[in-house]
Amino acid sequence: MNWTHTRRLRVDPNHPEPDLIATAAHAVREGRLVAFPTETVYGLGANALDQHAIARIFVAKGRPATDPLIAHIASLDQLPDLALDIPQLAIDLGKRLWPGPLTLVLKRHPRVPANLSAGRDTVAARMPDHPVATALIQSAGTPIAAPSANLFTHPSPTTAEHVLHDLNGRIDLILDGGPTHIGVESTVLDLTGSVPTVLRPGGVPLETLRELIPTVAVAHRILSADESAASPGQLLKHYSPSAQVILFTGPVAPVLNRMRDTAQQLLAAGKAVGILTVDDERDHFADLPAHLFPLGPLSDLPAIARHLFTGLRELDSRGVSVILVRDVGHEGLGLAIWDRLFRAAEGRVIDVGA
Ligand code: AMP
Ligand code: MG
Repeated sequence: MNWTHTRRLRVDPNHPEPDLIATAAHAVREGRLVAFPTETVYGLGANALDQHAIARIFVAKGRPATDPLIAHIASLDQLPDLALDIPQLAIDLGKRLWPGPLTLVLKRHPRVPANLSAGRDTVAARMPDHPVATALIQSAGTPIAAPSANLFTHPSPTTAEHVLHDLNGRIDLILDGGPTHIGVESTVLDLTGSVPTVLRPGGVPLETLRELIPTVAVAHRILSADESAASPGQLLKHYSPSAQVILFTGPVAPVLNRMRDTAQQLLAAGKAVGILTVDDERDHFADLPAHLFPLGPLSDLPAIARHLFTGLRELDSRGVSVILVRDVGHEGLGLAIWDRLFRAAEGRVIDVGA
């Protein structure tokens, strides 16, 4: 890896300055790596039609070449640049839900470099809902490949500081547009099989997809390293902070008691303990010498999603060795939150109701 100086350009997230966008777009056209905000998380961008630029993304992230990238577009007209035999359903979904946190897996156009898709004959495409992302893609005049701008297995970045923490010196430029709005990645929907199938829950809730596609299926998310080769991006260890995460599930009252008991045991053993709490439950832990990070009120899943990765990174930076957190249900954004926590916990789940 050649180390480089990473330029940070602060950009107005709502009305990005044209000269800053032009500088970043020029870098993309030259095959360089440019991190930028989307409405979900920060992306690590490169020209999606340039195989060498794509290869640099994998190196910068330390991402295995078997894990495909999502290509980002700024208008529906760009979809035929990426995909062949586009089904009407893709157009309908694009018109309803784009720009937004939905990624569609389609048949790959031969002009799209194979390494974008990790050698598969499919391609993942999304139109992000962020003025900076849109301006950058338009100005670069090419679809932009952009996985989350973090080191492989780390929590996804929702601020420019998170990106620089992981990738400073490994990328050419970052457009700093402040914190991202949704905080978890896009929902990935595969339209290449006989049944439309969600491969990854994300910013568009399953319930919204069900209204539009009553038959939509949800893929089993692969758990072991052996199995993950067959299905990209499904590794159990993902979104992980350095601290061990323990996820609690079950009826609320016993869950809170069990979390408190566990925290007390760990503290008694001399461990630094972090707790990602729902705001309304903070008092339950307030007297413990643990590091609390409030995620938001239980009634506000978007707030919890928005603060999730920041919470994991923040508790890590305070040096805790264990992070305790509870399941907030699987409705709406809850499914994506559960998925990210389950992977951050690498499957360490304590089911108090069982
Ligand atoms: P990231 O951009 O880091 O959020 O990760 C992109 C994820 O999108 C991958 O890990 C896969 O889960 C999914 N993905 C991207 N391209 C494809 C594809 N061609 N087929 C199936 N899943 C894909
Ligand atoms: Mg990622």
